Amino acid sequence: MTTTNIDHYIDGQRIAAEAPQRRAVTNPASGQVTGQVALAGSADVDRAAAGAKAAFPSWADTPPIRRARVMFRFLELLNAHKDELAQAITAEHGKVFTDAQGEVARGIDIVEFACGIPQLLKGDYTEQVSTGIDNWTMRQPLGVVAGITPFNFPVMVPMWMFPLAIAAGNTFILKPSPLDPSPSLLIADLLKQAGLPDGVFNVVQGDKASVEALIEHPDVKALSFVGSTPIANLIYERGAHHGKRVQALGGAKNHMVVMPDADLDKAVDALIGAAYGSAGERCMAISVAVLVGDVADQIVPRLAERAKSLKVKNGMELDAEMGPIVTAQAHQRITGYIDKGVEEGAELVVDGRDFDSATTGEGCAEGFWMGGSLFDHVTPEMTIYREEIFGPVLACVRVPDIATAIQLINDHEFGNGVSCFTESGSVAREFGRRIQVGMVGINVPIPVPMAWHGFGGWKRSMFGDTHAYGEEGVRFYTKQKSIMQRWSDSINAGAEFAMPTHK
Ligand code: NAD
Repeated sequence: MTTTNIDHYIDGQRIAAEAPQRRAVTNPASGQVTGQVALAGSADVDRAAAGAKAAFPSWADTPPIRRARVMFRFLELLNAHKDELAQAITAEHGKVFTDAQGEVARGIDIVEFACGIPQLLKGDYTEQVSTGIDNWTMRQPLGVVAGITPFNFPVMVPMWMFPLAIAAGNTFILKPSPLDPSPSLLIADLLKQAGLPDGVFNVVQGDKASVEALIEHPDVKALSFVGSTPIANLIYERGAHHGKRVQALGGAKNHMVVMPDADLDKAVDALIGAAYGSAGERCMAISVAVLVGDVADQIVPRLAERAKSLKVKNGMELDAEMGPIVTAQAHQRITGYIDKGVEEGAELVVDGRDFDSATTGEGCAEGFWMGGSLFDHVTPEMTIYREEIFGPVLACVRVPDIATAIQLINDHEFGNGVSCFTESGSVAREFGRRIQVGMVGINVPIPVPMAWHGFGGWKRSMFGDTHAYGEEGVRFYTKQKSIMQRWSDSINAGAEFAMPTHK
C-alpha cells in the first residue's frame, strides 16, 4: 500500500520537515499505515513562528471587515468541501462518516460566528469622562498565537481556535494531533483559496517536541490547548512560566443522571448515542449513567440489549453506528480499563472485548475493533469510575436520590459536561444551579454550547479562565487598550501634582 508524507504548512506552502523524523499514521478501520507524518523539532517551529511574525503587522492592520470577507469566502469553500473533510477525518480517526460530517458542521458554526468580527471587536466609548476628556477601549490582536489540538476532533477543535484568532488579526500556528494530521492541510489549502495571506495560518506537525518549542518560543504570545488533563495542566503551567496567555481544556468524566420521572425510552436512546457515538472518544461523551431509585432495574437490561446490537463497522459504511478505536495502543488502554473494572468488582453486563471483526467490512479484519461495554454496580472508588477511559465503556452507578447524584458528580475531579433527564422543572432547576460542572444539559445528553456561547469545563477539565470560542474566545485572542484623549482647549496651563479627579 502506498503511503503519503504529511508535512508542515508554513508561509503558504506545504514544506518538508527540517529534521527527517516521521511517525506512521494508520487507518484505524483497516489497521493499515496510510501516511507518514512529519514530527517538527524546534527548527520547524522557528520557521513557522518567523513566517507568522512577518505576516502579522499587515494582517493586523487589515480592516476587520476585509478579514471577515476572507472568512466568508472560507465559509463558502468549507461548505463546498465538507464531505472531503469528513472523509479525511474518518480515514485517520475512524469515526463514522455521518459523525464526521457533524463535526465539520459544528466547526463551520464557529467560522460563521467569526464572520461577525467587526461587530465583535467594537470597543466601548465614554464621552466626557471629565470636562473635555473622552475615554475609550479597543481590542487589539496579540501577535502570533498557537493551537495544540487532540486527535478526537481534527477539524472542529482547530476551528474552535483559528477562525476567531485570525479574524481578530492574529497569525496562527496549528499543531494538530499526529494521529490524524491530514485534515489540517486541507484546511490550510481552503484558507489559501479564500485569499488568506501567506503566513497568517500555519501548520506544524508533531508531538511533544514541537509543543515544547511552541511553549518556549518568545514570539508565540498565546497557547490554546485541548487534550488530556495531565498535558493541559503542564501546558498551563509551562506556558504561564514563559509569560504566555493560556487556555487549556482537559479531560472529562461526564455523568448523565436519569430520574425516575424521566421519559426512559428517550433516556436510553440518549445514553446509547452519547456513550458509544464516536466510540466514546469525545470529551463530552457520557461515560457514567447515574441511575436514581429504581431506574437501573428498568433500563440496564435495555441498555445491554442496545449495546450488544450496535453496528460497529468501517465508518464509511452508511449504516455504521460506531467505528474502530483510534490506535492499537488506545485499544489496549481501554481493554486494560475493562479488565480493571472486572477485577475491582463491577458487574460487566456487556463485554466489548469479545468482538468479532468479521462484520466490520471488507479489508477491516486488522482494524482496532471492540464492541460497546456496559458495567453495572460501579462505585465511586473504582478506577473505571475515577479515571477517563475515553472509549466505548458506559459505567452505571446506582444512587437513591437526586441529592446523592449531585454530590457524587460534584465530588468528581472533572467537571466538563453533565446531563439530567427528568420531567420535573424544579429538579432541573436545582440541578442546573447546584452542579459543579461547566456545561449542563437538561434532557440533552451532550450539551456542547453553540458558537456564540463558548465552551469550557470546570475543575480539572479546564485550566485558564477564558473559554474556547464565543465572546470569551474573542477576548482570549485580543488585548484591551484604553485610550484617554483631550485637546488643547481643555488643557489647563501648569503642572498638576495631585491625582486628577473629574472636573
Ligand atoms: P493528548 O493530551 O494526548 O494530546 C493532545 C495534544 O497534545 C496533541 O496535539 C499531542 O500531540 C500533544 N501532546 C501529547 N503529549 C504531549 C506532551 N507530553 N507534551 C506536550 N504535548 C503533548 O490528548 P488526545 O489523546 O489527543 O485527546 C484526547 C483527550 O483530549 C481526552 O482526554 C479528551 O477528554 C480531551 N479532550 C478535551 C476536550 C475539551 O474540550 N475539554 C475536547 C476534546 C478532547
